[in-house]
Amino acid sequence: MKHLTLAALGLALLLASCAPAAQEYTATLLAMDTVMELTAYGPEGEGALEEAQALIQELEGLMSATDPDSEIAALNRGQTVALSPPVRELLDQALELCGATDGALDITIYPVVRAWGFPNKQYQVPDPGALTQLLERVDYAQVALSGDTLTLPEGVELDLGAVAKGYAGDRMMELFRQSGVTCAYVNLGGNVQALGASPDGDPWRIGIQDPEGTSYLAVVEVTDRAVVTSGMYQRYFEQDGVRYGHILDPDTGYPADSALSSVTIVSPSGTLADGLSTALFVLGREGAEALWRARDDFDFVLVGQDGTVTISEGIEDGFALQGAGEDYNLEVVRR
Ligand code: ADP
Ligand code: MG
Repeated sequence: MKHLTLAALGLALLLASCAPAAQEYTATLLAMDTVMELTAYGPEGEGALEEAQALIQELEGLMSATDPDSEIAALNRGQTVALSPPVRELLDQALELCGATDGALDITIYPVVRAWGFPNKQYQVPDPGALTQLLERVDYAQVALSGDTLTLPEGVELDLGAVAKGYAGDRMMELFRQSGVTCAYVNLGGNVQALGASPDGDPWRIGIQDPEGTSYLAVVEVTDRAVVTSGMYQRYFEQDGVRYGHILDPDTGYPADSALSSVTIVSPSGTLADGLSTALFVLGREGAEALWRARDDFDFVLVGQDGTVTISEGIEDGFALQGAGEDYNLEVVRR
C-alpha cells in the first residue's frame, strides 16, 4: 500500500514539474505567413499538437485578409457577417487595445498597408496625396461591435495581422491545458508563448533577437508567458537606399519612425503582447513607458537605435544581455 502511494505521488510530481524524462512532441507548419514550431511534453502532447495544428488552420482561414474565403475578407468587401466566436473575441480584445494605445494600434489600417504593397509583396512607396486620402478610412472607432453580426462602414477594412498570431498563441495554451498538457511552448514566427515551466522545472529561457544581426541579444526567463517581438527587421523593403518597415504609424501612414529597432512584450496574454509590441513600436520609448506605468499586465524590452536596451522592472530578474547584446547599455525603468 505504501509503495502504491509513493508511486502515485511520484507521478504527480513528474507531471507537475514536467520532468526531463517526459516525452517531447514537436510539429512544424507554415501558417499565417510564417514558420511555426510547436512543442508539447508528456503523454497528452501528441494528440494536443494535432489539435493545435487544426486550430491554427481554422484561425488562419477565418482571419487572413488576403484569403478571399475568410471572414475578414468578407467584412472588407462590405458584407454583413455573422461573426464566428474567435473573430468576435479577437475583435473585442483588439479594439480595446486600439483604444488603450490611443490608436497607435489600429486594426483598420489595411487600406494603407495595401497601398504599400505589404500583403502581396508588390512593394511601393505610395504617393503622399493618396496616403492622406486613405488615412480618412483608418479609424478603429468606426468598428461598432454589438450583437453577433458586423457590417463595416464603406471603405473601412480590417487587418488583424498585428494580433492574430498572439491570439492563436492564447488559444493554443488553452487547448494544451484542456488536453492535460502542463508544459509546452510555441514559436509562431517571433511570437513565443510558453505554458508552465520548462521540462526541468526552471523557467523557460527565451532568446530575444538582435535586430541588427542573426543571433540573440538577450535572454529573458519566463513561466506561463507570451514573449512577442515586433521590429523593423521582420518585414521591410528597400527603395533608393531607404528602408521601409511593415509597422505603420496610423497618424501619418508612413512606417513608424520611433528610434526603436525592436519591441518585445512579456505578458500572460498573447493577444495583448502581440498588439502592444506593434503599438509600442509606433509609440516609441516615452509612450511605451507611459503606457507601462498606466497598466500592470505587461513588461517590455525596447531595443533603441542608439544602442540602449530599456526593460521594465518586472522582468529584471532573469534578464541578461548576451552576445551582441553585451555592446548595448542596459536601462531599467521602475514604477
Ligand atoms: P509580425 O507580423 O511581423 O509579428 P506585428 O505583430 O508587429 O508583426 O504586425 C505587423 C502587421 O500588422 C503588419 O504587417 C500590418 O499588416 C499590420 N500593421 C502595421 N501597422 C499597424 C498598426 N499601426 N496597427 C495595426 N496593425 C498594423
Ligand atoms: Mg503585433
